[in-house]
Amino acid sequence: MNKVFQEIVSKLLSASRVLIMTHRRPDGDALGSSFGLREFLRSRNIAADVLVPDPLPRRYSNFCTGYLTCSDAKMIDGYDLFAAVDCANGERLGSGDALTIEMLRKRNFISIDHHKGNSLAAPCEWIEPTACSASFMVAKLLLSTGLEIDSAAATYLMTGIMTDTGSFCFANTDAAAFEIAAKLRERGADIDRIANTVFFSKPINQLRFEAELINNCFKLCCNGRFAYCFVPEELMKKHNFDMREDEGLIDLLRGIEGVVIAMLCHKRVDGFRVSLRSKDQKFPVGPIARELGGGGHDMAAGTTLDLPEFADVEKLMTEKVSALLN
Ligand code: AMP
Ligand code: MN
Ligand code: MN
Repeated sequence: MNKVFQEIVSKLLSASRVLIMTHRRPDGDALGSSFGLREFLRSRNIAADVLVPDPLPRRYSNFCTGYLTCSDAKMIDGYDLFAAVDCANGERLGSGDALTIEMLRKRNFISIDHHKGNSLAAPCEWIEPTACSASFMVAKLLLSTGLEIDSAAATYLMTGIMTDTGSFCFANTDAAAFEIAAKLRERGADIDRIANTVFFSKPINQLRFEAELINNCFKLCCNGRFAYCFVPEELMKKHNFDMREDEGLIDLLRGIEGVVIAMLCHKRVDGFRVSLRSKDQKFPVGPIARELGGGGHDMAAGTTLDLPEFADVEKLMTEKVSALLN
């Protein structure tokens, strides 16, 4: 077992009050890894809180409860350990002005993440880009202690493994992902609850939104190998759909026969938010996202482009993607 791994375990077990942080617009892995770690620490009688930087997607609102938001940041005093999970950089951490990344770096601050190019620069960090998820990494750490992991913690950690591996379908699902998942299942990870929370909970307004999105906004190019959609503001309004609920939305495009690369784009105040997915390891999208100021993994990545119109995004991205595919 390597030195950093041991160091993180001992920092966690010797802390008395831990603040766990994760990335903005949290997804299943962000929430699974942070709440899983919180439940484990609490079961050891170590006080632990999760700071969630943005509102939770609706599907997780009954699943992840009792967390702090940035407006509670005055409460940062009294924590003797800060832990970031699944978070690639200071901007994504979004911990607010009361707790900037510069301040954190001067504290007892650990980072556990699987994003290539992680730039948090925590004084103690374990970054493993080949790990399927941050939840997997946290589970591996906790299992290594030999201490009990209760079913609540196991359920959260399994959630992150399942969401980041597309329920064990994506290429990041290595043998170790199954091994750790098996151990979490043995400890009571509630698969039923996860499935009903994450996968079988689509509100009907979202289904109507998706139907219209595919009918009106869907484009295919590069001989059917690149599928993309721009999501217009009016359509979201019409169906009362918030992009905060977009986890899995891009899979509508990824799921199409013959499609190798999928892109979903919508406008935000800071520019056009672009999500990218690849279905073929020969054509990784991570490098494109990083080149354009974003980040992520080879097969799932994202960035924000400060361009005037979607037509500019479309031109840039079709150029990049067709160059990659050819
Ligand atoms: P998304 O399309 O937003 O679901 O993001 C896909 C993957 O890329 C996720 O694992 C994100 O954590 C990661 N990602 C997206 N945007 C960024 C970014 N600006 N920097 C680093 N990682 C990112
Ligand atoms: Mn994530
Ligand atoms: Mn992740």
